Amino acid sequence: MTRRLRTAIIGLCLSALGCGGCSTASTSETPPAVLVETVDTVTPAADAGALAPTVYRGARLSGGGPDPVDVAVANGRVLAIGPVGTVAAEVVVDVTGRWLAPGGIDSHGHVVYAPAASALVAGGIVAAVDHAAPPAFFTTDFGALHVVGSGPMITATMGYPTQGWGADGYGREVIVGDVPGAVAAVDALVAQGAALVKVPLAPGARLTTAQLEAIAARAHVHGKKLSVHALTDADAALAAAIGADVLAHCPTEPLKDATVTAWSTRAVIATLSAFGGASVANLKRLAQAGATVLYGTDFGNTTVEGISPAEIGLMQQAGISGSAILAALTTAPAAFWGLADHGAIAPGKRAAFLVLAKDPGVDPLTLAAPVTVVR
Ligand SMILES: [Zn+2]
Repeated sequence: MTRRLRTAIIGLCLSALGCGGCSTASTSETPPAVLVETVDTVTPAADAGALAPTVYRGARLSGGGPDPVDVAVANGRVLAIGPVGTVAAEVVVDVTGRWLAPGGIDSHGHVVYAPAASALVAGGIVAAVDHAAPPAFFTTDFGALHVVGSGPMITATMGYPTQGWGADGYGREVIVGDVPGAVAAVDALVAQGAALVKVPLAPGARLTTAQLEAIAARAHVHGKKLSVHALTDADAALAAAIGADVLAHCPTEPLKDATVTAWSTRAVIATLSAFGGASVANLKRLAQAGATVLYGTDFGNTTVEGISPAEIGLMQQAGISGSAILAALTTAPAAFWGLADHGAIAPGKRAAFLVLAKDPGVDPLTLAAPVTVVR
């Protein structure tokens, strides 16, 4: 097949895919060029002027059975999955010998601070959880990248991050000691569309324990998770004590056994490549204790536009298996954050998946070098 023909057919495939399943998607966004470059063979099965369904034929599903499958997609959704040759299609993309995995979810990013939505999608991240952004976040269009987030983190007057990188609205300040004010801040952010609540436990001005407890309780009334920035053992312990659900970073100071135990039934976002310190050793202990591990990079603080090989490598150093890394990137965050459209390749889910050279359960670094990203 000539290069010219291949490009034309894949162009049709992408237009058929669209991004109609994404509530924040722009239908006019031009797909990143890397989406179309490296599929080995593309076979038209019918008139190339017709729309969908498109079938990705011959790959194996990560975590699935031994047999290759057909995955049919149209209008941004997975329509059907079946044995090879059993799903009718107008356009067939031959991905024989490849592996398919759900698109990645970065559970800690800053996609307003570092606007790179298209590049993240091209690199395998199809959804991101933003962990601090100015209020304009709530009305921002991120195109093909599905983004949920906290909006501004709730902090003390003059508290982190308002005196540094987050001076332009990344923190919503509450007077220290004002418990009703802290509760009102939660209500206001949720009303604007916050999908989670974020608070910092950082040097400088801080909210009181009573305020933090009230924020956690109010977030839970709204059905939202409370994410806490806490890098020391004492702050991680405090975060558990006030009722937080997830550590925004794996702490960098060695954790005491009691702190590991306190977090064993909660979740931790790795962000190992962001800070270093004892984070790798802490993640190993937290994972062994049973904590839910979520892949996250603190994108904005880090700069890898897509699934990060550095982050995956450090998770491997922490003893996280390939299948567990894949889960931390897909099924676990989809369940934790309530991203029901993501985390699996299944009928009805968004057509947001990776075509991979290897089995990610065996070699998770293949996730950081997708052959193609279908979105
Ligand atoms: Zn962050």
